[in-house]
Amino acid sequence: MRFKDSLTTHLRIDAVHQKALQRIGIETVGDLLYYMPARYEDISDVQSVGVLEKGQEAVVYGQLSGLKSRKAWKSRKPIAEGYVEDGSAKMKIMWFNQPYLAKMYNDGTYVKLAGKVAGSEGKLYLSNPEIELLDSLPIDRHDSIFAGTEQHDDTLYPVYRETAGITSRWLYHTVLKLFEKGALETLIDPIPPSILTKYHLPELKVALVWVHSPKKAKDAEAARKRFAFEEVFYIQIQKAQERATVSAAQTYTIKTETRHLAAFTSRFPFALTTAQDNAINTILTDFSGKRAMSRLLEGDVGSGKTAVAATTAYAVVTSRPPEGAGKKIEYGNLQVAYMAPTEILAKQHFESFIEYFHHLPISVGLITGSGCMKFPSKIDPTKPTKISKAQLMKWVKNGEVPILIGTHALIYKSVEFKHLAYVIIDEQHRFGTNQRKKLAKKDARMPHLLSMTATPIPRTLAFTIYGDLDITLLDQMPAGRKPVKTTIVGPGQSKEMYEHVASELTAGRQAYVICPRIEEPDPTKENSLNMKSVIAEAKRLKSDVFPSWNITALHGKMTPAEKDKIMKQFSEHKIDILVATSVVEVGVNVPNATNIIIEGAERFGLAQLHQLRGRVIRGTYQPYCFAVTDSKSEKTRNRLKALVTAKSGFELAEHDLQFRGSGQLYGGKQSGLSDLGMEAIRNLKLVEAARTEAKYLVDFHPDLIKSFPLIAEKVARLGEVLHME
Ligand code: ADP
Ligand code: MG
Repeated sequence: MRFKDSLTTHLRIDAVHQKALQRIGIETVGDLLYYMPARYEDISDVQSVGVLEKGQEAVVYGQLSGLKSRKAWKSRKPIAEGYVEDGSAKMKIMWFNQPYLAKMYNDGTYVKLAGKVAGSEGKLYLSNPEIELLDSLPIDRHDSIFAGTEQHDDTLYPVYRETAGITSRWLYHTVLKLFEKGALETLIDPIPPSILTKYHLPELKVALVWVHSPKKAKDAEAARKRFAFEEVFYIQIQKAQERATVSAAQTYTIKTETRHLAAFTSRFPFALTTAQDNAINTILTDFSGKRAMSRLLEGDVGSGKTAVAATTAYAVVTSRPPEGAGKKIEYGNLQVAYMAPTEILAKQHFESFIEYFHHLPISVGLITGSGCMKFPSKIDPTKPTKISKAQLMKWVKNGEVPILIGTHALIYKSVEFKHLAYVIIDEQHRFGTNQRKKLAKKDARMPHLLSMTATPIPRTLAFTIYGDLDITLLDQMPAGRKPVKTTIVGPGQSKEMYEHVASELTAGRQAYVICPRIEEPDPTKENSLNMKSVIAEAKRLKSDVFPSWNITALHGKMTPAEKDKIMKQFSEHKIDILVATSVVEVGVNVPNATNIIIEGAERFGLAQLHQLRGRVIRGTYQPYCFAVTDSKSEKTRNRLKALVTAKSGFELAEHDLQFRGSGQLYGGKQSGLSDLGMEAIRNLKLVEAARTEAKYLVDFHPDLIKSFPLIAEKVARLGEVLHME
């Protein structure tokens, strides 16, 4: 048996399961063995129903049946009763004074019950048990591969993430079947033994057994650490390769005189912050070297990344392309491509750039799915004008338009530059060397890359997902910004909040209301639930809370044009309250919107909440944020309180990592990391080790396919996933 083999060549799997497996990306033996348990449950305290005795505190797992309510014989007190069955026996259960319980659960429901065994011999029952609903029963240890070995003391069973058609239990048994059929026998560990020994990591065979069927918690942990290392290691190798490719490529060396630049920045209606100044200088230093820059600019919303982008773009577009050997230069300056994730943002950047460049003989183009524009217009040089895509593409290709701003439309094949020297990506994760190279097309030179993000992520995660980039922080807000006054709003406290927001609206301000994003059960019908929750909240606010204000919902099911229209109306103050989900249009600048209500705040990471409230810091008015939670949990309230005290998004991101677990990190989902990989992010040493080893491997074995074919294969697969978009 080989990892590459299709599962169905070794196991009989019915069509339903096959389909479900496909949905979660499991096709081969290897896919399944690398489908890791999400967690483990300890069942050392579980008893079989068949052996229970009177007076015992018991924990049992089973299925419910025969639930009904009745009145007790003498006392006439209401009782809910039924049975629990676990394969060994069936036992009665009774809840006194809680007759409604009988209606709450259906026959056949899987449960964990904890209660006292009462009654008399032959008529035992479980009295007032606590009930926990389960998706499936725990693994039946009798058919575990360890069954029969006398000394087995394993009480952990793995719990896998389930999907429609597949239970955790089924996954576990299928993995065991693979083990029995010898899946581990011919296995070769891709990780060199020297690395395993150095970091005390179990080899692949052992790790697979430990992770799927651990005898001890310690073993499971060691195995998980190994797989986490492995995952981060491959990513780091890929990043190191990207770095090597970029370093090897020719680029444009751009030398800028600071004096020259000062003339540009002195026109700004503000003084640059020290952080902005430093970032600009760092980028200019990168430009002046022989290697293409790969840099990430991380700064909270409102920290002024656009000014950094514009200033450095200016340095590029005022530079001439180098002379080819002996050839006469064909004119046209160096060019800049600036990509934004949405049309709204692309347009906003286009407008900002017009502000920054209107006094210069430098044209700016805009390309989005819904059309193209150019500044200045031939007819009115103070305004932009709509032009055809063909016309714009012609000017970009011959170098007449040095700055092109756009959405993803920028990287379509039909867009060709003459001398693309600088690519700026706003709020765009994962932009690989390939895409960068593709943008440059026929041009042999690798453009410099600046990736900008407001997503505060912890250092370890940045190391991993941006491993190929140098990182610069914009950790300073422009002077005079009023920090957001943040209030945690608990159950029953919304009246005050609404009163406050109403007074703000009366004073002429605007507000955002953010509804938590709902996970869609059916991925083919994306956004339908979220749309409903947003629309319902807008309706409720209109009818119950703010009847005299203009309220509009914005959601993902709208076309870009519809969204655009609403955002425009909001920025023109034709709308007072905008209701949206958290994913809609981060970064849009409406200075008059100074209030933000975030519903279901406990569902968000702190860093993400911070980013959301960043939308209201733009103006000169005092901004307010209300983090609304229905949670009564002390822990949740305390976690949210960090929002009131924290200084920056990065502080909150580290906080999230420590207190909430890496799975909740904003940016995690988009990172392409598995749950296990995200777990690894909590471990700085592990990430650093993977980074060091990866660098070493790439430096000393440039021909990875020859030296480490198994690793090369894994990295190549990763490449496909990470560069899909
Ligand atoms: P972000 O980092 O979120 O992209 P922007 O670049 O959109 O932030 O800047 C937010 C606002 O702050 C803009 O209106 C911009 O003109 C302004 N701004 C940028 N830098 C400064 C500064 N140093 N002082 C004052 N205002 C600034
Ligand atoms: Mg921005």
